[in-house]
Amino acid sequence: MTQLEYARRGRVTPEMARVAIRENTTPEVIRDHVASGRVVIPANIRHLAGAGGAAPSAAWQARYEQLVEQLTNRPRGGSADNGKPGWLADLRVDLPYPLDRAGHPTFTGRSALWVNQTVPQRQALLADTDYVPGEATPKRLDPMAIGRPLSTKINANIGASPVSSSTDEEVEKLRWAQQFGADTLMDLSTGGKLDECRQAILDNSTIPIGTVPIYSMIIGRSIEELDYDTILRVCEHQAQQGVDYFTIHAGVLKEHLPLIRKRITGLVSRGGSLLAKWMLTHNRQNPMYELFDEISAIMRQYDVTYSLGDGVRPGCLADASDPAQLAELHVLGELVQRAREAGVQVMVEGPGHVPLNEIAWNMETQRRVCDDAPFYVLGPLVTDVFPGYDHITSAVGATEAARAGAAMLCYVTPKEHVGLPKAEDVKAGCIAYKIAAHAGDIARGIPGAQEWDDDLSRARAALNWPKHFELAFDGETARALHDEDLDVDTDFCAMCGHDWCSMRISKEIVEWASGKAEGFTPAKVAAKSPGLTQEQIRYLAHRGKKLDCHSDNAADDQAARKAQEKYIQLNVQAPE
Ligand code: SF4
Repeated sequence: MTQLEYARRGRVTPEMARVAIRENTTPEVIRDHVASGRVVIPANIRHLAGAGGAAPSAAWQARYEQLVEQLTNRPRGGSADNGKPGWLADLRVDLPYPLDRAGHPTFTGRSALWVNQTVPQRQALLADTDYVPGEATPKRLDPMAIGRPLSTKINANIGASPVSSSTDEEVEKLRWAQQFGADTLMDLSTGGKLDECRQAILDNSTIPIGTVPIYSMIIGRSIEELDYDTILRVCEHQAQQGVDYFTIHAGVLKEHLPLIRKRITGLVSRGGSLLAKWMLTHNRQNPMYELFDEISAIMRQYDVTYSLGDGVRPGCLADASDPAQLAELHVLGELVQRAREAGVQVMVEGPGHVPLNEIAWNMETQRRVCDDAPFYVLGPLVTDVFPGYDHITSAVGATEAARAGAAMLCYVTPKEHVGLPKAEDVKAGCIAYKIAAHAGDIARGIPGAQEWDDDLSRARAALNWPKHFELAFDGETARALHDEDLDVDTDFCAMCGHDWCSMRISKEIVEWASGKAEGFTPAKVAAKSPGLTQEQIRYLAHRGKKLDCHSDNAADDQAARKAQEKYIQLNVQAPE
């Protein structure tokens, strides 16, 4: 049974209870949102168990049903205790997830939002070997939920390409993504050892993993050779591995293709363009649309969530909100209902390039057409002329999207449009999108979201540098930048200097009492900075390694071409 089916029957699952702790609400609120389809919990049963691509043990399955029974029928009316809400304080169930609520370092009962944890808090949790170990894997899924009624989530895309990266590098990128705030991660590998890489990511991930199965379907064959059996076989294989959500481009139909002709950038979705080629070659309807019910049956069996792909998404501002995009959106609205009828959870993917003034309209239209299914948008970029900085151009659009109702923001890194992201780019993309998501939560009035900002502002006004860096999302970087100029903690910083420090001057006007609520008074003598870690030193020094064929490493054109051949010939293995 899927989370959707449990919710419709009024049952509370361990995942709903865990999500309630993370979102600072009750399991019944989460259950009712899941039942309505406004919220999804992407949680493949194999990833939940950490079964390493196998079926969970009989003991795990029996225990699961027992937990559902206990949670659904637990006594009501608990009393708040130890800062915990009543339902949690009185919980007499051995939940297989951390029970303590979490939030930013000084969170209160009102602001216990898991998404607001800082990088060091996340690092500590990931380093804890007792934190969600799987039946057969180092880690298993710690469930989260996506939907407008909850805090905004962010997704990070990683994946090896035929010319760059390896399984170890991708697992390392997963670690970076998790510690810098990714709530879900998509493995978009199109090269290397695809199966091995996907399983390694799943086995080490505590966040839901999504894939685009069509990428694996064309390994070892051309798109024209793709047949129905392969589509179903690859979907089943990835579901068995434990993938939590699939991007399926079932909304792009044959009759939409003439609408693409007027566009500047045509089809920019890889899945959309591949399927368009298949449809034109065979003069047949989109096979993902034709097989939708069969794919749903496979996904239901493992509780894989749909992320209905926008194969016709606009690839530039000029193509945004055009008839092709809207024609596909209406098909996606139909597929949302079909997925729900099949008992499968479903969210909908949204556009990647949209002028700022059209973003809210796009969010509202999707909500209406897709019956409030969670909207998962890529950016969107609000201008096309800043390649190299597209984590910024897209974070501007993502902030507006979050404010206007997007449930999850798919990050864009500085490498968008120009190359495959490295770990540093994953960090830059995640942080840009944490900013967008948090700004959206504040603008939407998510209860308690702004407490984090207010706590940091008090520390800043008090010139309390240690507290300032403790509360900063990425205090490591903030500390490194502070110490680059002035490695003492004193009552000013290098930006304005002593005489011009308005924070210091405000503190001296005692009746204003800036920052005094915190009771911190900086020492008259400046405190020595704790010093930089190796990571902070590296951050200040340089970033990234260049490929062997880069002109910095290759002596001449001939040497560069020789190095390039090595990447082109990388062995790409077909799925078993
Ligand atoms: S010197 Fe300027 S930037 Fe630095 S703490 Fe004072 S007011 Fe803020």
